[in-house]
Amino acid sequence: MPRTRRPVVPGWFDQDAADFRLLGTQCRDCGAVFFPREDAFCRNPACGGSALDEVPLSRRGTVWSYTDGRYRPPAPYVSDPDTAWQPYTLVAVELAAERMVVLGQAAPGVTVADLAVGAEVELVPGVLNEDAEHVWTTWRWRPVEAS
Ligand SMILES: [Zn+2]
Repeated sequence: MPRTRRPVVPGWFDQDAADFRLLGTQCRDCGAVFFPREDAFCRNPACGGSALDEVPLSRRGTVWSYTDGRYRPPAPYVSDPDTAWQPYTLVAVELAAERMVVLGQAAPGVTVADLAVGAEVELVPGVLNEDAEHVWTTWRWRPVEAS
């Protein structure tokens, strides 16, 4: 039976979009942008707005910070204790237009040796985990090759 592709968090991105972006929301009154998305009310304390529109966020940004995970986190982190632990790389990225910092894992194969604070990265679709019924999709950050 084929597995179903599902976003790990519904509404945070469109896993099938040709122009893959994280989805935030923007206040109609003051223009503040939120990610994770805020759909109930504007969190700007100087604004009483409650109308927020979904907006695609910048696809590129710069590395604000980064690190790697070299040990197996405890549950509820999902991993197979019978397999060797594979380190993963976490990147905090300041989005180009929004100037907000979004955390995410680096694309497969990208290590801390490939990253530097201030380096340009781009958002790419990725897979967080797979089980018998689902492929859980997510976003990843990948260094932009110097042209
Ligand atoms: Zn507002």
